[in-house]
Amino acid sequence: MTSHKPRVVIIGAGFAGVEAAKKLGKHGVNVLLIDRHNYHTFIPMLYQVATAVLYPHQIVYPLRRLFRGLPTVNFLQADVEKIDFDRQIIYAKNIAIDYNYLVIATGSRSQYLGVTGAEENSLPMRTLTEAIAIRNHILSCFEQAIKVTDEAEINRLLTFVIVGGGATGVELAGSLNELIHSLQKDYPNLNCDRARVIILQSGRLFPSYPEELGSYTEKWLRRHGVKVHLNSKVSKVTPEAVYLEDDTAIFTDTVIWTAGVLAATPQMKQSVNTADKDKIIVEQTLQMCGHKNVYGVGDVSYIDSQELNGVAQEAIQQGETAADNILRQMDGKLPKPFDYFNKGRLAIIGKHAGVGKIGKFALKGFIAWFLWLEVHLLYLPGIRNRLGVLFNWLKYYFCGEGASRIIISTDALMDDRERGRDREERGQGEI
Ligand SMILES: Cc1cc2nc3c(=O)[nH]c(=O)nc-3n(C[C@H](O)[C@H](O)[C@H](O)COP(=O)(O)OP(=O)(O)OC[C@H]3O[C@@H](n4cnc5c(N)ncnc54)[C@H](O)[C@@H]3O)c2cc1C
Repeated sequence: MTSHKPRVVIIGAGFAGVEAAKKLGKHGVNVLLIDRHNYHTFIPMLYQVATAVLYPHQIVYPLRRLFRGLPTVNFLQADVEKIDFDRQIIYAKNIAIDYNYLVIATGSRSQYLGVTGAEENSLPMRTLTEAIAIRNHILSCFEQAIKVTDEAEINRLLTFVIVGGGATGVELAGSLNELIHSLQKDYPNLNCDRARVIILQSGRLFPSYPEELGSYTEKWLRRHGVKVHLNSKVSKVTPEAVYLEDDTAIFTDTVIWTAGVLAATPQMKQSVNTADKDKIIVEQTLQMCGHKNVYGVGDVSYIDSQELNGVAQEAIQQGETAADNILRQMDGKLPKPFDYFNKGRLAIIGKHAGVGKIGKFALKGFIAWFLWLEVHLLYLPGIRNRLGVLFNWLKYYFCGEGASRIIISTDALMDDRERGRDREERGQGEI
């Protein structure tokens, strides 16, 4: 393939990359937006796909459609493998693309914290295909459970362990608990009361929220039947069980890993400064140290002296600032520092229950739950998606069932995983 000559290349069409592309496109700048998927994923709703509340297509939006009204924004579906800052070229399979400005917005990936067997034997939830794989797996456990007679094996199949008690782990635990207890009518010959959700957390729940919200969540989950194990560190995961540091073994076929993230940085030819979790250190202006025409935004980057939590709002605002700064540089002006405006945070625990922190106010219960639904519906791209999600939520709320509980192929997931492994095996080699 011949090389392109775009003015601005953006790698990653998540929250940060899409925001940057929109802003630059509105100013008529030539943009090439690259992502390994041809859709934008609304990650905060992944857990609702994993627990069959929503259909997969309702939380994604085709990128080519998203940018139809912005003719200077082009999209390329490719997996970026390497960046050469000196030559200002990025490499994907069989493609070399040069840039004048580069925005790295590749997000994050799961971190297994050195726990033996965790990567091989647990299910991550960061992409749409991974969320579908979790849904398939949960439903398959029920399908298998009705075929076996051994009591211990039935218990193992109906035990669902979530590692990580941050927002993702809690949201998933609450929703999964609702799913497994609503499956009784589909499996009348199985005692679904035996099914249990266990959440394992090394400290307290919701460590980044005020303590009272953590204990409210803990009580709420326990009251609804979720087994909450706090101060529990996982030491090993096998295909049959998860082991804690105190040698407790929990026999299960399902371990969902939500603890820990690493920056998902493509390989770089030149060494760059990185912080904790492999994040690229950027200046206050979001420019990469030593590379004034390269920006790092969203989950992939780290700004010294700003306390950020790795949430969508931060990524969106950083994408906007990077675009503003590129426009300023094109006009011969100095880039301005990133100034985060914290609009607050919300998380759902289960039906009618949520927690949140908006300014000084800590919210819990119905109001936080309702606000979460409203805010996420507002930010979800696409009218059709919003209407579909609203319909599914109402169906789920009144009838206890959102999306169809179907098991579909996980081949797509294998593609994702193989690609990851492939890249690791190629290691430092020249492309
Ligand atoms: C399960 C889960 C639930 C969450 N819930 C919430 C929530 O409720 N509220 C909230 O505010 N935040 C939430 N977050 C955090 C939020 O999703 C992230 O902070 C946000 O997505 C970061 O945006 P980003 O643009 O940096 O990266 P992402 O949105 O992750 O986008 C990165 C993009 O880069 C692409 N990409 C990566 N590497 C390459 C490559 N080499 N080549 C091509 N493309 C590549 C990916 O395909 C992806 O589209 C959640 C995160 C997770 C995992």
